[in-house]
Amino acid sequence: MDARPITSARRVGESSPVGEGSSALLSVVVPCFDEEAVIRETHRRLVATLETVPDLDFELVYVDDGSRDATLNLLRGLQGADARVRVLALSRNFGHEVAIAAGLKRAAGDAVVLIDADLQDPPEIILEMLERWRQGADVAYGQRTERDGETRFKRWTATAFYRLLNRLAEIPIPLDTGVFRLMDRKVVDAFLAMPERDRFARAMVAWVGFRQEPVHYQRAARAAGETKYALRNLLRLAIDGILSFTFAPLRLATWLGFLACGLALAGVAYVLVIRLCTDISVSGWTLLLVAILFLGGVQLVVLGILGEYLGRIYHEVKRRPLYLVKERLGFPASGRPADE
Ligand code: UDP
Ligand code: MG
Repeated sequence: MDARPITSARRVGESSPVGEGSSALLSVVVPCFDEEAVIRETHRRLVATLETVPDLDFELVYVDDGSRDATLNLLRGLQGADARVRVLALSRNFGHEVAIAAGLKRAAGDAVVLIDADLQDPPEIILEMLERWRQGADVAYGQRTERDGETRFKRWTATAFYRLLNRLAEIPIPLDTGVFRLMDRKVVDAFLAMPERDRFARAMVAWVGFRQEPVHYQRAARAAGETKYALRNLLRLAIDGILSFTFAPLRLATWLGFLACGLALAGVAYVLVIRLCTDISVSGWTLLLVAILFLGGVQLVVLGILGEYLGRIYHEVKRRPLYLVKERLGFPASGRPADE
């Protein structure tokens, strides 16, 4: 096992945004949407955790995803008090996955941690992820062993979904894994090179490959505030995950077609046999109605599936920017090109 050097692999020409020395730089990307109730506590715990690590510089990249409450103001305050804080405010609410992509794009670290703002993922676990990274892992993803404070329904659907996706998709996507993870710079770059609009970070990172290791933890209840994922959003995320990582639904269409043909043939055979071998007369109407309903149903299902893919293709070819930035605070001037 080749140990990762503790010193930074930061690219030549990039000035160190925090302090001097040759420590590795860790970026922590935190998407925030209406998190005024918890954001200061999150910041306090992140800083307290990261300051215990020797030979490590860090920056905290808070992405304000169009919050309607005081979150952005609080973030400005945090930034004013601590030069390691960066704030990226999007022009409106673009959603969790897009906020993550925006934060990753601005993160300068040799490794980047993704963590939710609500303290459901304990910041202290980052230490273990860092340890894995230093021992050569390219991705250390948090894998939940237990979920507190979530409804039984959500737990059940989440488990069912991850198992389904894993079965359908051609790449193994780790079970019970959210966005909480540490990624090496090369994984982040690969992730950013994926231009797709309908994003599903956990599966996209799994797709990248390299050395990925789980770090087990207990998912806590939200520290404060409410979940921003309505059932509708969860469903959308699940559909995005399935449609962008598998062709299974398209195949389902084919199978449904075969099934319909098979049933129709069986029906014909049944009628012929009864006609030729017995005196019973088959009521034609019933059979006809059933056949028509069945075929009609199958065709609508197939059309719906095609429509889902078509809609996504349309979404992709529009080539709109993924998000727009309205404010940027605390980023080093000589950062990456201002390409948003
Ligand atoms: N979030 C976001 N944009 C959104 C919805 C959520 O940036 O449109 C953030 C939110 O602030 C939190 C994280 O994404 O940091 C996860 O959201 P939440 O905790 O509400 O989801 P849950 O844990 O309930 O699935
Ligand atoms: Mg949460």
